[in-house]
Amino acid sequence: MDLFEYQGKELLRRFEVPVPEGRVAATSEEAAEAARFLGEKVVVKAQVQVGGRGHQGGVRLVTSAEEAGKAAEDIFEIDFYDQEGFALKQKTEEGELTDAEAALWEQKKLQAQRSRRVLVERAGDLKHEYYCSFLVDRTTRSYLAILSSEGGMDIEKVNEETPELIAKVQIDPLLGMSDFHARELVFGGNIDEEARKETLSILPKLYRAFVELDASQIEINPLVMTADGKVMALDAKVILDDSAAYRHAFFDELKSAHEIPEQEKRAKAAGLNLIKLDGDIGIIGNGAGLVMSTLDVVTDAGGAPANFLDVGGGANAEILSNSLQIIMENPEVKSVFINIFGGITRCDLVAEGIIHALGRLDVKVPIVVRLDGTNAEQGRKMLADAPHPMLRTAETMLEAAKVAVDLAHGAVQ
Ligand code: GDP
Ligand code: MN
Repeated sequence: MDLFEYQGKELLRRFEVPVPEGRVAATSEEAAEAARFLGEKVVVKAQVQVGGRGHQGGVRLVTSAEEAGKAAEDIFEIDFYDQEGFALKQKTEEGELTDAEAALWEQKKLQAQRSRRVLVERAGDLKHEYYCSFLVDRTTRSYLAILSSEGGMDIEKVNEETPELIAKVQIDPLLGMSDFHARELVFGGNIDEEARKETLSILPKLYRAFVELDASQIEINPLVMTADGKVMALDAKVILDDSAAYRHAFFDELKSAHEIPEQEKRAKAAGLNLIKLDGDIGIIGNGAGLVMSTLDVVTDAGGAPANFLDVGGGANAEILSNSLQIIMENPEVKSVFINIFGGITRCDLVAEGIIHALGRLDVKVPIVVRLDGTNAEQGRKMLADAPHPMLRTAETMLEAAKVAVDLAHGAVQ
């Protein structure tokens, strides 16, 4: 779970990591009120899960409550993109996109995020911006701590151009972080002398937060030294490991602040588990293994899955019609592939479900069905006896995948 900045900072505060004083606001009035409370000179920050909010107008330094309200109002109207999306947006303003870029840009527009809250924080005068992060390094089975005097900007770029200004230290999870690790980071990372002592005291706190919260990453960019010599976390990107949710009662509460896409919400309400991908072929299957192979077969046939849904063992009429409805709601879906292997699930009941769904739904894209296993022949016959202009059947999984891909690409009518 990728946390909002304000959530990450709330957690860091519990571990005594210094963060600026701030308040969360959901309206421009609340933002103005927060600024009044904090002393007028504040930063108003968009709360969205994309990097580089600063470049997209999502971080505003203001000097009055009125301006803070106005800044929040502006921020609520901004569409935020991930880095790739923002680069494409800038390109659209400068000139022509290639076909591939234009297609990607259409997708990025669908994924644009709006900020539903802003974080209003007391602004400080910054003297230096550093970079600090802790992450799980799977290849070495250890933690990796990174510290650099060159923060605030793209750390990848620093890594390429001036790698000598970045300190990387491996920490054995069984031994934990020691003072010498912290010193290696502070000296290797080229931290200013006046900020060293405080940074040395902050690093173990960040490490403790990282371990005790079951985080997979904590990135502070920038960690700053203010004009009066204080060191604090000005930004916080905290990712918690969902597999550890059962150990932390607060995970659920943090999650409730995240907007679940409407489609996934409705799928969940219908007891279905929908996973969204980036392609254009909707996939329904029964059983996790079969669904995964279906994704592979579709990819091999030159297609790209748009989403997938596992109907599990209970592939009855109700479930199938809900599934089809939800899968087809995605405007990206150009064809649907229903792949069922009958075991306990009987293919005749699945066929009945599909026929029922087709009668109920306004079907605008072609659907390819492959039935195999228990009562498959009976099921196929039922489908053949109830012809529908949008329905195709196929004998094998490979054949069905190929037809679904061709239909999505408009190759067959
Ligand atoms: P990001 O662009 O999404 O990473 O947002 P950040 O929280 O990292 O803020 C971007 C930049 O805004 C920082 O690198 C700072 O330069 C600037 N900034 C943020 N807060 C303050 C502040 O309190 N005072 C000053 N002077 N600058 C700030
Ligand atoms: Mn940042």
